[in-house]
Amino acid sequence: MDITNAVKIIKEAKHLTALTGAGVSAESGIPTFRGKNGLWNKFRPEELATPEAFARNPELVWKWYAWRMSIIFNATPSRAHLALAKLEELGLLKALITQNVDDLHERAGSKKVIHLHGSLRIAKCSSCSHVEYLKEPPHTLPKCPECSSLLRPGVVWFGESLPLDILRKAVEELSKSDAVMVVGTSAVVQPAASLPLIVKENGGKIVEINPERTPLTAMADVSIRGKAGDVLGKILKAL
Ligand code: NAD
Ligand code: ZN
Repeated sequence: MDITNAVKIIKEAKHLTALTGAGVSAESGIPTFRGKNGLWNKFRPEELATPEAFARNPELVWKWYAWRMSIIFNATPSRAHLALAKLEELGLLKALITQNVDDLHERAGSKKVIHLHGSLRIAKCSSCSHVEYLKEPPHTLPKCPECSSLLRPGVVWFGESLPLDILRKAVEELSKSDAVMVVGTSAVVQPAASLPLIVKENGGKIVEINPERTPLTAMADVSIRGKAGDVLGKILKAL
């Protein structure tokens, strides 16, 4: 029934957008921040992904990122990533806004991807404007070739603001949207978590896909409890 309702919303939408989180990459074997992280279980992401943690112990922070990069660079897109790319190819999905710092949406074939929190493929200088692409996770502390300062991961850390141009692009897409699919996000990290409300305030619909309830569930028009790959697969079949 929920699938039928979701399909109806997707088909009727003139401008459908998706907002994704770590849950869509969970099925590619990439741990979510609330998952079991083995070795790294004793550290909380909120204590590693911050400018203060980097200033205090850049080696520890880079080790954690190198570990995450090695998983992400070797992962392959999941059924969820592929289904979202297919929805774009079919002309149904107009834009995809992601909190994920992996590149699995692009590798699945999605073209219009807005990365709210940056990318693990990028390292940037902590002092100057130097930016580089990472083919491999760095094994030692990476330094800037221009000014010798430490390079840092090209992501937005807790306590940092989102780049304004990126946030503006996301808001622009959502302001045009009459429906948004919110997939695999715990909807607790701001401002990303509030973005779907732009659509709601404009009279549009929210379709949520998540195995668990989130703070957004009460606001959703359709909320489907399930894994992103399973649910999106069913939606694609029913279209
Ligand atoms: P989160 O870790 O806070 O929450 C993950 C959500 O995914 C949970 O609500 C969980 O119920 C749901 N989930 C788990 N398995 C799922 C599945 N198979 N299908 C659908 N949903 C599933 O992640 P978040 O909301 O994206 O936000 C936290 C921050 O985590 C973001 O800033 C993001 O940059 C960062 N992050 C990114 C990655 C990545 O790039 N792959 C991985 C971990 C964390
Ligand atoms: Zn530099």
